[in-house]
Amino acid sequence: MKLLASLSARIYAVMALCAVATLSLGGLLLHSSYESRAAFNWVGHSQRVIISLNSLQANLGQAESGLRGYLMTDDASYLANFDDNIARAAALREAVIELVQDNPQQLRRAEALRTLASDKALVMTRAVQRGRKVGAIQATNPVARERGRSLMEQINAITVAMRDDERRLLLHRTEAANQSYEVVRVLLFVGCPLLALLITLLAWQIRTGMTRPLENLLEAVNRFGAGDRDARARVAGGVEFRELAHAHNVMAEQLATAIEQSNMAEAQLARANAELVQRSRALETRQKSIELLSGMARRLQAIRDEGELTTVLDCFLPQVLPDVAGALYVLNHSHNLLVRISRWGEPYANPETFLPDQCWALRRGQSHEVVRPGADIVCVHAGGSVPVERLCEPVIAGGEVLGLIYVEGLSSPEDRFRLELLMENVALALVNENLRARLREQSIRDPLTRLFNRRYLEEAMQIEAARAQRTGAPLAVVMADVDHFKRFNDTHGHEAGDALLREVAGQIQSHFRHGDIVCRYGGEEFTVIAPGASLELICRRVDELRRAVREMTIEFRGQRLGPVTMSFGVDVWNAADERSTDTLIGEADRALFRAKRLGRDRIEVVPPRVDEAAE
Ligand code: GH3
Ligand code: MG
Ligand code: MG
Repeated sequence: MKLLASLSARIYAVMALCAVATLSLGGLLLHSSYESRAAFNWVGHSQRVIISLNSLQANLGQAESGLRGYLMTDDASYLANFDDNIARAAALREAVIELVQDNPQQLRRAEALRTLASDKALVMTRAVQRGRKVGAIQATNPVARERGRSLMEQINAITVAMRDDERRLLLHRTEAANQSYEVVRVLLFVGCPLLALLITLLAWQIRTGMTRPLENLLEAVNRFGAGDRDARARVAGGVEFRELAHAHNVMAEQLATAIEQSNMAEAQLARANAELVQRSRALETRQKSIELLSGMARRLQAIRDEGELTTVLDCFLPQVLPDVAGALYVLNHSHNLLVRISRWGEPYANPETFLPDQCWALRRGQSHEVVRPGADIVCVHAGGSVPVERLCEPVIAGGEVLGLIYVEGLSSPEDRFRLELLMENVALALVNENLRARLREQSIRDPLTRLFNRRYLEEAMQIEAARAQRTGAPLAVVMADVDHFKRFNDTHGHEAGDALLREVAGQIQSHFRHGDIVCRYGGEEFTVIAPGASLELICRRVDELRRAVREMTIEFRGQRLGPVTMSFGVDVWNAADERSTDTLIGEADRALFRAKRLGRDRIEVVPPRVDEAAE
């Protein structure tokens, strides 16, 4: 059965069956036709034998009748056909011999018949010859006649026997011919439908074994071609179609894999391309960020005071972080308060100042981010339950906290990158600003008393004098000097002198307003510039100071030193004065000198120029 699994094998088998059936049928038909023809030939043959025997008998009979008539009548006309009959009889007996060659019994009889017929012909021919010689009546010979009759009887007996045999054979052969015909008929009736059945079987095999698998394969190919990558041919039918379907499926599998791989490669390429574009955009954005922050950094490097720092930050922060809101706080000099110096984008939490303790980032010295309220502790300064992302980033430089950047809604990596750079720049700017402020402080402050120095006094004097001239407000200048300070130094030592100077500086500072400028003019000499103070007011203040100094006690290394007094020279400039402001300090100093001369511990006022002129 396995052999017939192949369609071609099945078709070959059915074709072979058809061929065998056709050949068998043809052979049988041919054989039957041969049989029939042979049967019919034999029938003809028997008939020819019978006819020859009859003719031989008739010829011999006619020759004998002619001879008898001649002998009885001596009429030669009776012999008109005698020779022909004898000749035909001779030919016929030979023909009979020829015809019965196939039948030994008939052949023996035919040979006997030939001898008898030949003898008979000879007897009759001799009788005719003698008759012609001696006359018919004289030629009559009873012996010969008797012999002739005996021969004729024998001939007839053999002829009858032979004819009977031939008739029997004829009957038998006719039956054989009929049987052959029957066989042909049966073969035709059975063989042809069988052949037709085989041809139908062949057609059915081709139909089922070829058409259906082909349709199945074609459907799979069409579906695959239409885009159905899972379309596969059903592995069925003959071995060839199963192999074909399997081969198609393998090819479809490989093709689908190749297409999938190609699609994947295409998708990967597209992804890589998109990534490249994204990276290029990111780089572009990064470049812009760097350019922007570099611009800000250059400006921050060029600032001169805290005011300019705020100006630069106010300008750049909204550009650096445009999508978020926030504020920059700076730790004050006392390190106990965060003061807002810049703000952008309207943050929800926006206090002007807050305590360092109110920020978790400052407490822990690292950034503190609350993605949403509840996710982590929200700092007190960033209070409220507004659902916004909050980030506190301490500004630290050299391990020292300088301030804090507070940001709301920070999310993109680019913003975080910008914030990182911003932090560095702001930290640097704050460090620079602090340094600058410290240097400035050092350059204008007296290190012992922390009062402004003489250099600052000269600058401040010019500014205040110009302002007084512009506004018309009075400008008071006080020159103060510790009395007998040399003696104090000599008595208690230089360090005690320094302590006294610090104490005196504090007293002076505390007796003047915030806007007044208190300076150490040099040694134990001090200058106060009090813009807007009238003569009366300044004298009252200076006198209060003078009294306070007198009552002042100086504690130095457990010893109470003192008492100490101070002398003062006061000059007040008014817009009504016709003199310039350049000589104010000199005038006050001269008044001080006068106070010294008049006994110290006193206040001397520069008299008004108008009065002097009047005097
Ligand atoms: P008078 O009442 O006339 O002003 O006399 P005086 O002794 O106060 O004035 P004088 O000019 O003779 O002496 C000033 C002294 O102040 C001389 C100097 O040694 C001292 N002195 C100047 N600067 C300092 C300082 O920074 N510390 C100390 N301890 N002494 C100083
Ligand atoms: Mg002095
Ligand atoms: Mg003095």
